[in-house]
Amino acid sequence: MIPCLGEEEAQAAAEAVRSGWVAQGPRVASFERSFSAAVGAAHGVAVSSCTTGLHLALIAVGVEPGDEVIVPSLSFIATANSAKYCGATPVFADVELATGNLTVETIDAVRTPRTKAVIAVHQAGVPFDVLSLRRACAQWGIALVEDAACAAGSTAYGSPVGAGASVAAWSFHPRKVMTTGEGGMVTVDDPAQAARLRRLREHGMNVSAADRHASAQPILESYLEVGYNYRMTDIQAAIGLVQLSRLDGLVAQRRSLAARYHELLEGIEGVTPVRDPAYGTTNFQSFWVLLDGIDRDVALSELAAAGVSARRGIMAAHVEPAYVTDVDLPNTMRLTKDSLILPLHHKLTESDQDHIVGVIRKLA
Ligand SMILES: *Cc1c(COP(=O)(O)O)cnc(C)c1O
Repeated sequence: MIPCLGEEEAQAAAEAVRSGWVAQGPRVASFERSFSAAVGAAHGVAVSSCTTGLHLALIAVGVEPGDEVIVPSLSFIATANSAKYCGATPVFADVELATGNLTVETIDAVRTPRTKAVIAVHQAGVPFDVLSLRRACAQWGIALVEDAACAAGSTAYGSPVGAGASVAAWSFHPRKVMTTGEGGMVTVDDPAQAARLRRLREHGMNVSAADRHASAQPILESYLEVGYNYRMTDIQAAIGLVQLSRLDGLVAQRRSLAARYHELLEGIEGVTPVRDPAYGTTNFQSFWVLLDGIDRDVALSELAAAGVSARRGIMAAHVEPAYVTDVDLPNTMRLTKDSLILPLHHKLTESDQDHIVGVIRKLA
């Protein structure tokens, strides 16, 4: 991923600096309104990263020490870590091969009376089956927190993935489709939860610093609970507003490059590229291919030797030293060992793609 940043972002950041308002302020508020509207959510609460957003989201749905939180092992490690931050136990569930996502069945297989929440990831931008998972979690009485770190611009059942999510966390790290340097957002449906999240990201204060500064009369704040400093700056939000205006174009370009990869890879045996699921569209945040009968690490070094910077597929948290456990997650293991991520960014040309697929064809 190469971030698509230009002169407009530089100007917007410079304007924020010149305005003198650099911490969370009017640009953050404006970015929250625009981003939540773009992803179909009622409220947006900007935070310092998706990781801190997931932490706050779990607190907001009531996760406490001793609870279990079901997570996919096949995800960036921050997904599991956020449960740990609450003193809860992440319980790893398997994913389906086609999408890399949790399903009702894989969640049900590890569900216990101590399960308080599920963090389902729209992995690499591929939406999970939102209708099935939202319905099942509601029936079980388990909170569903959506890790939408990679999913800005993805859709499910004809709507942006944020629509109909009760809580979703988003990332604006430079490895995602749109970036603010570091940064994240929690979108929620319920206004009371939005208010709680705003308080939690700002030391538990009942009045935001921005509101205090804006008021002509002194407002005395009070601290209602133990909170955090998980704020985004106005400099980041200024960049985010410009990035958001590019989002549709960036996603359209990624989808057309992905379509061309599909054409070129058609008929190459042992190479199965990620695709849109039946119920939605991916932003192709990552274009991964699952290999069969081709050694992934050999493929990576052949591609590197040909000047192509492909990456290994998505990690599996349950085999990392931080978590190592001997649960049996066959699809997770298959995907993490046998998949790789091909270059897909706004500067990728058709001849780059021809070259990349040429190397793969030779391997197959
Ligand atoms: C990138 C990512 C995160 C972490 O996002 P940050 O903004 O860097 O904290 C969390 N979950 C998933 C699935 C991710 O891909």
